[in-house]
Amino acid sequence: MRSLVMDGIEDYARAHTTKVHELYDRLREETYAHVRSPQMQVGHLEGRVLKMIVQLLDAKKIVEVGTFTGYSSLSLAEGLTGDGEVHTFDIDPVATDVARRFWKEAPWGSRIHLHLGDARANVPTFAASYGPIDLAFIDADKGGYVTYWNALVAALRPGGVILVDNVLWSGRVLDPQGGDDDAIVAFNEHAMQDERVEQVMLTVRDGLLMARKR
Ligand code: SAH
Ligand code: CA
Repeated sequence: MRSLVMDGIEDYARAHTTKVHELYDRLREETYAHVRSPQMQVGHLEGRVLKMIVQLLDAKKIVEVGTFTGYSSLSLAEGLTGDGEVHTFDIDPVATDVARRFWKEAPWGSRIHLHLGDARANVPTFAASYGPIDLAFIDADKGGYVTYWNALVAALRPGGVILVDNVLWSGRVLDPQGGDDDAIVAFNEHAMQDERVEQVMLTVRDGLLMARKR
């Protein structure tokens, strides 16, 4: 993934962002050493953004689509208090095995519940029955974004927030060449037309769309 901001600036921003528990560093190392496409992991800066939004919302019910090795789930769950929980969806048993192992080590890891299988089928069903969601984070297959968005926006409470990752797609949204490029562009138009939310596109990492349900 090509960085949207200068490397030096990204490093500087990271250096002025609160440090993480050492568990995250080990999870990062293991993912980069042993798992395919490790750059999909949200990492330090975006992980802290996720945690802070959980805290600002005082979120209790969180749904994530795209677990991978569990870094973003761990960041979201770290911001929870009381009986708050994260329900996270992924189709990959190998990557999520790594996730489960690291969640066990975290004092707040038991707040994370993994749903293994095709999220395109599972998320709409789950969202419809789970009740008002405080916060959702979409970070899975780009062709599924519209499906996940529609199901999750419908289930958000008024004032609830939905975050969507990779909406700038390394800048390829400006010159899409088919496939996932087109899927992201179409999704961004879909979200922009959705009157149920007010939204702002942040240039965090690979682009993070933040939308609040009216
Ligand atoms: N948020 C994660 C990164 C997610 S990467 C982190 O910070 O580490 C994208 C994930 O989407 C991959 O793990 C992939 O297995 C998952 N995915 C792709 N298609 C999917 C589908 N149809 N259903 C569920 N998960 C899917
Ligand atoms: Ca991502």
